[in-house]
Amino acid sequence: MTINIRFDENHAFVNRIKYVIKFLNDHPYLDDKSKVVENSKNAEDSVLIHYGLSSLSDQSVSTNYFIPEQGVIFSKSNIQNDDLHINEYQFDQWSLYSVESSAQSGKTFVREDRFSFDWIETIFFHISRYEEWVYDGPLNYKGMMPEDKMKIVDQGIEQTPVVDDIVFALFELWGCRKERKRINHLSFDVDHLRKYKGGGSLIKKTLGHLKRGEWSFIKSLGSRLKETKDPFDTFDWMLKEVKGRKEIYFLVGGNTKYDSPIDTEDEIFKHALQLCRERNYKVGIHPSYDASKDKALFQMEKENLEKLIGDKIEISRQHYLKWFWPKTLTILEENRISEDSSMGFSERIGYRCGTSAKYFLYNLHKEQMSDVLEKPLVIMDSALFKFTDSIGFEKRIKELREKSIGMNDINYCFHNNRFEESEIKGKGLKALLKKL
Ligand SMILES: [Zn+2]
Repeated sequence: MTINIRFDENHAFVNRIKYVIKFLNDHPYLDDKSKVVENSKNAEDSVLIHYGLSSLSDQSVSTNYFIPEQGVIFSKSNIQNDDLHINEYQFDQWSLYSVESSAQSGKTFVREDRFSFDWIETIFFHISRYEEWVYDGPLNYKGMMPEDKMKIVDQGIEQTPVVDDIVFALFELWGCRKERKRINHLSFDVDHLRKYKGGGSLIKKTLGHLKRGEWSFIKSLGSRLKETKDPFDTFDWMLKEVKGRKEIYFLVGGNTKYDSPIDTEDEIFKHALQLCRERNYKVGIHPSYDASKDKALFQMEKENLEKLIGDKIEISRQHYLKWFWPKTLTILEENRISEDSSMGFSERIGYRCGTSAKYFLYNLHKEQMSDVLEKPLVIMDSALFKFTDSIGFEKRIKELREKSIGMNDINYCFHNNRFEESEIKGKGLKALLKKL
């Protein structure tokens, strides 16, 4: 089946429209026999959709659907979140969410042949990270837009994949939706190889635990004294042998207080690399705190890691998810990184881009799609710790899964140094990883 989206080729934001159409065409919800195309002249097309008023002037063409053009996100002015509303629309028993300049309520997603809102702009808003590009308010300690200022977080719907849900509804409507199973993608960040680096560190860390009243630490101290493995040396069981591609990102540079470059001479590191080769883990760079804005630093760290693994580094995830638009994107492009996985939340779980599907990032300054594929992060272990006091990790993730209309993938990030903390605090991080 061919879905043909027609729009004015002279539209001022033609690249943004094409970008969203490509996103739809690449989306994992699309069945294998279907494609989404733009301005095709083929009369055989199964579904024809008009975007905007100008294209409607051609009355000779029969139209299956019409999308009204909002002209708010696709305009010359930078619209701040305070001037935007998220409105809820019904589609069957489900809710879908728009991004619009005026507040609406009680409407259905589609009435006869007309969509109730400009979902092309809405999808663009989320996946391009428009709000982060244009944001001019106070920044957080990392120099980024605070997460709670992001529109979906502000509205309390960040655990709903608002973009994937719209795509689900569209493909359901057009009859091209694929039945699929959810995939849990695993990835790991390595910020620390060991807890105990010799010298006085054992005594210092013991005193720290005792001061905080963390008595169960005694257990780990016991094994430490028996000369067993360092508690952060979890690679043997953490790097599970599961099908599909898995990623591991190593922090090998940096000298800010947020950096703790690993000792690449350490036997633990060498063993971890050996496991990556045996178990098909793709090695990526975890660029240090300032590498998000320093091209040369990024390059140096990447080249160091390349020498150590004897292979090209093509994937990256920013340390602290620190990211500046367009600086970080440009640095990734200049360093030939083909895939990033930084677009997630640090302080909560959910969908920063409204989707967990892979897609190419957009460069708003150049007004074109970039070469960097994004694999949006959905659940980071450190964020799970922050709000699962009374409820277990698995229950929290079950709640998140139930907020999706379809079977979207969930992309996880674990840290080897978090499992001990989980044990001390009585959380089930290891059990969670085992089940995925
Ligand atoms: Zn990190």
